[in-house]
Amino acid sequence: MKHHDVIIIGAGAAGLMCAATAGYRGRDVLVLDNAKQAGRKILISGGGRCNFTNQKVEPHQFICGNPHFVKSALARYRSTDFIELVERHGIEYHERDHGQLFCNDSAKEIVTMLLTECEWAGVSIKLRTDITCINKTYSGKFLLSTSNGDLSCDSLVIATGGLSMPKLGATPFGYHVAEQFGLKVLPTYAGLVPFTWHSEQKQKFESLSGIAVPSTITAKDGTQFTEALLFTHRGLSGPAVLQISNYWQPGEAISINLLPTENALEKIELALQHHPKQSLRNTLSHWLPKRLVEALFDTPQLDKALNQLGHGERELIANALNNWQLVMNGTEGYRTAEVTLGGVDTNELSSKTMEAKNVAGLYFIGEVMDVSGWLGGFNFQWAWSSGVAAGMAV
Ligand code: FAD
Repeated sequence: MKHHDVIIIGAGAAGLMCAATAGYRGRDVLVLDNAKQAGRKILISGGGRCNFTNQKVEPHQFICGNPHFVKSALARYRSTDFIELVERHGIEYHERDHGQLFCNDSAKEIVTMLLTECEWAGVSIKLRTDITCINKTYSGKFLLSTSNGDLSCDSLVIATGGLSMPKLGATPFGYHVAEQFGLKVLPTYAGLVPFTWHSEQKQKFESLSGIAVPSTITAKDGTQFTEALLFTHRGLSGPAVLQISNYWQPGEAISINLLPTENALEKIELALQHHPKQSLRNTLSHWLPKRLVEALFDTPQLDKALNQLGHGERELIANALNNWQLVMNGTEGYRTAEVTLGGVDTNELSSKTMEAKNVAGLYFIGEVMDVSGWLGGFNFQWAWSSGVAAGMAV
């Protein structure tokens, strides 16, 4: 049976980063993955340009049962460290809104960079390998039965990611390993995911598909994001919706402000002063796409002149614009979600090394853990930071 110092299961963002880090420390590292290609999620990320990190990464941009858990790893391997690595490999990148950093050319460059780092660090990678059984011996070694034979190691790192995008090979493998070794796994939910309409909403709003407007969306817990809102055939999407989906529970209403920088009532009152005979339809169509206005309000009301609307009616209209309350049917689920909320309970792990507190030598990194970031490069930064933390410890 071939023995390695470290076996990492999962050749994704976290696994490859961990492998290179451990390899450079002189560890004999083997990475196993059941896919035929390493870093598949990286390749499709950020629309093929990989939003690999963010200029400004702070702990509050991560959702985790223990909000302090992410601090140590994020402080020890920062976004500036990853940017420095990207620059060393000559990868050109650019900044978009909110400090998001993307490759100029292709996400492939990030995968190539990670694989090059692994090669330089002497890491072996075996793809198309299924792991059928894991056991721990009394002497503390891990024994793995795989489709490519039996293996053993001193440190075992689980980097198999979450459940999002099963088409790309996402599996619950990591959760099963955690449970096998007695670690608690918190319930999982699709995160950074579009919302879907109820059937009546679908009838009313489906035709708005393709319309994008600026918005501020607020969840029940008060969390708020100001970004674009996109209407789709199925429901609502766009950055504001993806962000708020991380803070939304089924059945809860969301509040959408369609005029995020303006007080709608003041705007209507001003329009009434200057253009009292202008119809509500024409007034609102200066501020929002006409099709949206027509879906939000009924025709008799839209046909009224502003001076035919009572004060109470104007207040209700303003409220619909600044505080549109919607109870969505649900989300599109793991099929289109960018991340998985929940996962291996961080209370079971060391925040410095990612090692299980009660199972020496067993580590969990990346998305398999109960750590999910905002949209904007934060999920990859967690993969890099947690990967390095474990890579320094194994
Ligand atoms: P993964 O990258 O998912 O890697 C897990 C690896 O484990 C995979 O190689 C998989 O094949 C392997 N594996 C799974 N099960 C098994 C098993 N049973 N046996 C062996 N191997 C297994 N985040 C950002 O920060 N910026 C972005 O631009 C961005 N864009 C995204 C776009 C999309 C469409 C999606 C779905 C996600 C995006 N994300 C983005 C999120 C980001 O991709 C993940 O958070 C990140 O890849 C997690 O890294 P990971 O290493 O933990 O898991």
